[in-house]
Amino acid sequence: MTYPTDTGRAGFLPVDPQLETAVRAEGERLLALMDAHPAPGIFSKKGAYARLMEWSMKDAAFKTQLFRFVDVLPALTSSADIVRHLQEYLGDKAVEINPALKTGLAAAAFAPGLVAGPVKAQVADMARQFVAGESPEDLVRQLRRNAKIGLATTIDLLGETVISEAEADAFLRRNLAVLDTVAAAIAEDSAPAFSDVGPGGPLPRLNLSVKISALTPDVHPADPDHSLAALKQRLRPVLRRAAEVGACVNFDMESYKLKELTLALFKSILEEEEFRRKPEVGIALQAYLRDCERDLRELIGWARGAGRPITVRLVKGAYWDYETIIARQRGWPVPVWSRKPESDANYEKLTCLLFDNADIAAPAFASHNVRTCAHAIVQAGRRGIDPRAYEFQALYGMADELKSALLRTGHRVREYCAVGALLPGMGYLVRRLLENTSNEGFLRARHTGAATREQLLRNPVEALAQAAPPKAAAAPPFRNAANTDFTLAASRERQRTALAGLQSHLGRRWPLVIGGRRITDREYVPSVNPAHPEQVVGYWARATIADAEAAVEAAHAARPSWRATPADARAAVLDRAADLMESRRFSLNALLILEAGKPWMEADGDVSEAIDFCRFYASEMRRLARPEITQATPGESCVQQWTPRGVGVSIAPWNFPLAILTGLTVAPLVAGNCVIMKPARQTSVIGAHLMEILTEAGLPPGVLSFLPCFGSDAGAHLAAHPRIDFYAFTGSRAVGCGLWATAGRTLPGQVNLKKVVCEMGGKNALVIDNDADLDEAVPAALASAFGYAGQKCSALSRLIVLDGIYGRFIERFLAACPTVPVGDPAVPGTIVNPVIDAAAQKSILGYIEQGKREATLAWQAALPEALLSSGGFYVPPTVFTECRPEHVIVREEIFGPVVSVLRARSLDEAFAWVNAADYALTGGLFSRSPGALARAREEMLVGNLYLNRGITGAIVERHPFGGFRMSGGGTKAGGRGYLENFLFPRAIAENTLRRGFTPEEE
Ligand SMILES: Cc1cc2nc3c(=O)[nH]c(=O)nc-3n(C[C@H](O)[C@H](O)[C@H](O)COP(=O)(O)OP(=O)(O)OC[C@H]3O[C@@H](n4cnc5c(N)ncnc54)[C@H](O)[C@@H]3O)c2cc1C
Repeated sequence: MTYPTDTGRAGFLPVDPQLETAVRAEGERLLALMDAHPAPGIFSKKGAYARLMEWSMKDAAFKTQLFRFVDVLPALTSSADIVRHLQEYLGDKAVEINPALKTGLAAAAFAPGLVAGPVKAQVADMARQFVAGESPEDLVRQLRRNAKIGLATTIDLLGETVISEAEADAFLRRNLAVLDTVAAAIAEDSAPAFSDVGPGGPLPRLNLSVKISALTPDVHPADPDHSLAALKQRLRPVLRRAAEVGACVNFDMESYKLKELTLALFKSILEEEEFRRKPEVGIALQAYLRDCERDLRELIGWARGAGRPITVRLVKGAYWDYETIIARQRGWPVPVWSRKPESDANYEKLTCLLFDNADIAAPAFASHNVRTCAHAIVQAGRRGIDPRAYEFQALYGMADELKSALLRTGHRVREYCAVGALLPGMGYLVRRLLENTSNEGFLRARHTGAATREQLLRNPVEALAQAAPPKAAAAPPFRNAANTDFTLAASRERQRTALAGLQSHLGRRWPLVIGGRRITDREYVPSVNPAHPEQVVGYWARATIADAEAAVEAAHAARPSWRATPADARAAVLDRAADLMESRRFSLNALLILEAGKPWMEADGDVSEAIDFCRFYASEMRRLARPEITQATPGESCVQQWTPRGVGVSIAPWNFPLAILTGLTVAPLVAGNCVIMKPARQTSVIGAHLMEILTEAGLPPGVLSFLPCFGSDAGAHLAAHPRIDFYAFTGSRAVGCGLWATAGRTLPGQVNLKKVVCEMGGKNALVIDNDADLDEAVPAALASAFGYAGQKCSALSRLIVLDGIYGRFIERFLAACPTVPVGDPAVPGTIVNPVIDAAAQKSILGYIEQGKREATLAWQAALPEALLSSGGFYVPPTVFTECRPEHVIVREEIFGPVVSVLRARSLDEAFAWVNAADYALTGGLFSRSPGALARAREEMLVGNLYLNRGITGAIVERHPFGGFRMSGGGTKAGGRGYLENFLFPRAIAENTLRRGFTPEEE
């Protein structure tokens, strides 16, 4: 799917001068009413709060710091912590905002409560602006207050992403309780509010808004069938109760990745017999999405087909920044319009579409923008639609003047009331603060006087016509390949087809390739599917010592002409290989799923990384091929340039069977070396595919040989060969250290000192600070520990949790563990697959037994019988607590889904434990203290440090990957400088002075 870079403006409503006049008049009328009846709102609040908002709008850096402080505050349990964070985030500004804090801060060291109390109260006050209360009783009070002034209400229970079944159960109970309490209260009230009556009579007075992310932790957008089943299970009781008490249930719309699922859930659950007529339902659609029109048309078509009247709440959308950032980060098309008037113009277009179908899709316009509302009113008037046949919606604590103006003009208005505790409410509060201070927003423009009335009411299509077209950014020399978006049905279908295609072509024989010749008459070794070991994916020819010798010969023969091939031509081979991989992505994914047991998204990431290695190293070689001036000196030309080392061997592991093998092979190749490629035994069929791709991409014969073999014979022969100049190795510590030692011995006939690029294992730790955001930290820890069954060298195996948060973290972490799906990687939602082979399974199970002896087994997945009897190499994900730094399971690399949890008294202790490992590969910290994050940068000594995110998933160029100590030699795969491992630098100085003159350009 690609979106036009142009705005697609032609599709918006054309400017109609007559209509414009009417919209402006309506807008003026609303604005005049708003001016005449000012309501106390956030912009009119006096004192510290007004100052905060004002500064946030003036100073983007301050705004970030302030909102981050607001975000962390509820997680801080002691006054001292509050003071520390206040100082770290806001420094002297804290006093400027609130001079009353001055004395308190001066005495903070002795009496932190003097500061913490007022600060908490101030933020709570801010939250109360947007949150209608904490309890159902608060809610009932608010509902009655609203009803008195004519407002209808929709209820939103705060508490968004749930990460365990227990949390989802609790949320469900809260929803049911609210339905009961509010229904009972409403029954006591006699008259409905003005806005609770439509043209056809009373509407449901009880209206509940739900977010699907709060319904179940079991949402895996790549596996919608499973997710739908889990969601429906939790939603049915809500709909049932709503039907009983006559409530309307509205589905909020969240981030784009949940959109398809939300729509599918909405339609499919309402098709169930029980819910065909009741309860009344609505759904939010976001006009800032480019595909909103298509969704709205489909939804209207569905509603007509099902004969099911619905309400559509049209919003612009609350996640604009998030969607833009995430899509850019992933290299996916940005799903939202890029310019604000585009969202406005789309909204106006969809307003008309809704009015034209108001008989089946009752319109609800959720906007605080006067122009947007005025436009809707005029369009309704043009169509002769009764003002009571549609409604406006606005958020609690915002746009009160607009609500009252709309009521005064005879329109129905519903207030969206968020209720709940402050802690889960912070995400909501920060979203509201952002909305109020957004540069692009209507509210800010109106309240700061940044826009004239004329501008406030301007037609967005006119605004677009006057705006400068968006600038096209210059293309960078390298761009990461985008992973497949499996939330798209078409992608899932392609993957399923590729898997089925491969399943029917298993068992092929893959020969050796030496000097361009395919050698078929060797012993063939089967390579099996770890999920179904009886299934042979393919057979690979096992190379002998003589084959190894022949490959060395062939490489030396091919060496001179390959070295002489221009760097750009060598790089072009890699670019072609990348294109071939991209074109075969789904069949390569399928192969990785079957031969390496990689879950869908992991397999797809592996292929992306392989593509990235080709393109990145190609661009790096082009850069290095330009001689670099070492110093600009008159009369002398001084440059450094590079020459290849010679002949090498690439030795790759099975865990990134395509990506790492590709990286280790193409880096030396593009640098002008000849290479013998030795894939891992368990994934040699993938290696054979890579050989085919590189050959097809144009590698001349002999430059690369394909030599699958056993380490004990042909492999050992190459390790000790005098005519090998370098090894590009990734694998276990034992093999790596052995290779390092062997390569260190200089043999008779050896020309060069051998270079070993050596990347080995890790014992990676994630530290959870006392102020960590657990909504983020728990899922990140789960994914880092259990994703791909913990078989990444970057995987998390030591969770170091600080004392102050230990109880809260462990409770949520252990509760969330069972939500991680274990199973066959051919099933799209699987996260934990079987491990690679029986030997790995045995070793990991052995460590689990060891763990039971030295620590406490806190949780272990119960594998279903079907998996146990499948013969697949499954290992149940396992968590140990009460672990100590000296325990075997805390020190040794396990390479499986096993996590050891340690409890640290302080960051000092946590960092000391991190650094006490033999390894230094990846590590991470979850903290919202700028001071702690700064310390981690200095003190957590690992090759790849990740702050406030998971610790796996390095991306080429963005995260150059590799560690030190027993993790490796400090080289960084996928980073600048990596190619230099396979090159010798040469400096060339030429005297350019001839009889006293030099060439002009000098
Ligand atoms: C009752 C109610 C219910 C809501 N429910 C939901 C919901 O379920 N899901 C949801 O996502 N939101 C929901 N919202 C939030 C809503 O999306 C925002 O409040 C709304 O987008 C603000 O729009 P506006 O018309 O009030 O203000 P305006 O200031 O006119 O518009 C601001 C909006 O423009 C868009 N925008 C900003 N910058 C750009 C840009 N550069 N390019 C393109 N577009 C841009 C964004 O959507 C931004 O929110 C709800 C709001 C209300 C009032």
